[in-house]
Amino acid sequence: MFFRYCVPIVAVHILALAVFVPAFFSWTAVVLCLVGVHVFGQTITMGYHRLLTHRSFKTPRWFERVLVVGALCCLEDSPARWVATHRMHHAHSDEQEDPHSPLVTFLWGHVWWLFVRNHSLHHPANYERYARDLLVDPFYMWIEKHPTSPLWVYAAQIVLYAVASFAAALLWTDAAGAANFAAGVVVWGVLLRTVLVWHITWSVNSLTHIFGYRNHDTDENSRNNWLVALFACGEGWHNNHHSDPACCTVRHRWWEIDITYLEVRALALVGLAWDIVPPRAERAARAMAGRSENVALKASASPRADVALGATGPEVVADTQLPS
Ligand SMILES: [Zn+2]
Ligand SMILES: [Zn+2]
Repeated sequence: MFFRYCVPIVAVHILALAVFVPAFFSWTAVVLCLVGVHVFGQTITMGYHRLLTHRSFKTPRWFERVLVVGALCCLEDSPARWVATHRMHHAHSDEQEDPHSPLVTFLWGHVWWLFVRNHSLHHPANYERYARDLLVDPFYMWIEKHPTSPLWVYAAQIVLYAVASFAAALLWTDAAGAANFAAGVVVWGVLLRTVLVWHITWSVNSLTHIFGYRNHDTDENSRNNWLVALFACGEGWHNNHHSDPACCTVRHRWWEIDITYLEVRALALVGLAWDIVPPRAERAARAMAGRSENVALKASASPRADVALGATGPEVVADTQLPS
């Protein structure tokens, strides 16, 4: 049985074919498309993935909302559903319960999983299990209670693009020319951009579980794929990500450039990001240092210092990542 997601996915793909209408071409529209692929793509990568799903850094509430509204403009599901789906992927990567393993077929992992109703994925208990931390926020709960709200945000964005580009074009052309320019901006700047961001996101699910090399012997089939990393601003270093999902950076070798992490560091410089989660080894070292400090404090206050010190032998340091 086809799931309702197939309607907007098919519709936007068909409408985006209007980029082949010569009258809709303008360099402004092309630039808006390319800039939009990066900016809106980052609302998914930085916003939905590294911030909401893995909590790999902190940011002001208003900036989180900005990222989420941008992500809604990408028509990639509501925040709680996206997060639950991705955490479920991490919990069951390439197993039966994985919502989009390409080991079924490439097409399934890329897009077909969105076309078929998955009862275990879309069950309320699943969202309660995997996205409880989001649903306690009234903003995210409101979106879940109004399932058409992402569509309305998407439509509002089209109106905004159309009105703004029409008004701007009136500065140099007549109403008919302005309408044509505005249509081109919507086709390139919204519809084609949406399709490109979709396929970039979906490539992380499909290509990086089939093609590429592995730095880490993880218990699924994740790969590091330079092509996906290039287009998805670092997300293609997917084997690195699976080896340490909570870590904000996915760069484990010098050439594995992670644009998203660099942008998070840039946000930190202007106070828009903090508590950036470091690699697991550094988290472990910090935890050990913190424990040693506590023990030292206790030791200085306790007559049984030897016992306290003896109790701090090598331990497995708890990971700080969420259930993902
Ligand atoms: Zn994966
Ligand atoms: Zn992830």
